[in-house]
Amino acid sequence: MAERVIPLVDQRFAALAAAVPAQAVPATGLLSDTLGRPLRDLRISVTDRCNFRCSYCMPKEVFDKDYPYLPHSALLTFEEITRVARQFVAHGVRKIRLTGGEPLLRKNIEILVEQLAALKTVDGLPLDLTLTTNGSLLARKAKSLKAAGLQRVTVSLDGLDDAVFRSMNDVDFPVAEVLAGIEAAREAGLGPIKVNMVVKRGTNEHEILPMARHFKGTDIVLRFIEYMDVGATNGWRMDEVLPSAEVVKLINAELPLVQLDPSARGETAERWGYADGGGEIGVISSVTQAFCGDCNRARLSTEGQLYLCLFATQGHDLRSLVRGNASDEELASAIGNIWHGRADRYSQLRSSMEPDTGKGARRVEMSYIGG
Ligand code: SF4
Repeated sequence: MAERVIPLVDQRFAALAAAVPAQAVPATGLLSDTLGRPLRDLRISVTDRCNFRCSYCMPKEVFDKDYPYLPHSALLTFEEITRVARQFVAHGVRKIRLTGGEPLLRKNIEILVEQLAALKTVDGLPLDLTLTTNGSLLARKAKSLKAAGLQRVTVSLDGLDDAVFRSMNDVDFPVAEVLAGIEAAREAGLGPIKVNMVVKRGTNEHEILPMARHFKGTDIVLRFIEYMDVGATNGWRMDEVLPSAEVVKLINAELPLVQLDPSARGETAERWGYADGGGEIGVISSVTQAFCGDCNRARLSTEGQLYLCLFATQGHDLRSLVRGNASDEELASAIGNIWHGRADRYSQLRSSMEPDTGKGARRVEMSYIGG
């Protein structure tokens, strides 16, 4: 078992100041970074807390009762989140995903959903407003989220076998309640629903076929995610990664698949359809088939730091501008300036990097900026 590393330096408190550039960067909707990638997708973390302790994201040994979770006063309010989101939308964002930690733990989240649902893209269209959840509270919340304006959900589910699922969430939470949450989301009309399964070799790869059989023939899109070296606490090892190519081969042997075209530029999943028309699956292969070339995703942490990559080591502090005297134009200009200078492509560079000694800058925790 790889030794767990406890982060000594908490990068949440080492953010770069987000300056208002002397040369304004107006919000035209046409912004792109140094690699020509537009800004289209904003992931907003609304809490750094979760009621699960999935070992690949929030290992229990690190995220225990003494872990310094953010005080509520540090979190952006719903009004502040909406104000910041409005500037991103003016720069071209068309999709907002609410994440966490576990976003449904944030009290009255429906109020935020309602505020964000009122925003329109630069072409005057509704945003693609979605949310990623572990499903534990979904059965209770599905209807009110839909009524507030949420369009769809993605549910994390790492296995159907109750014992496997309980050990992977590490809080003994029963799989039946998550399946009931998925059903409630379907009944509430929160679709198309996606289900994400993180595959960790030696832990749950034997759940791949049962999951595929279970969701085949439904309108739910099942995606298999390669186990990633996110953050600095999950003890990641390459030999615990099951490459997506092997996942596709395994399923295809029993349930023939045909490759499908991407549905949009910047889509993270490679799409495969069942040859008999029984629906679709996806594979997300950040480790073996990096997709940084089209990455159009920005991430806003729960206390207002802008991260340009899931594997970033530092964020840009927007909260000081939000709580300072910056106007909306100045806030938008600062965001534009940061994105304009973006060159992140960690997954593309991973294999050419020096092995992680744990001494260098630490990658931000996924539970803090959302997957
Ligand atoms: S590694 Fe970073 S740049 Fe590459 S796809 Fe992921 S978030 Fe985007």
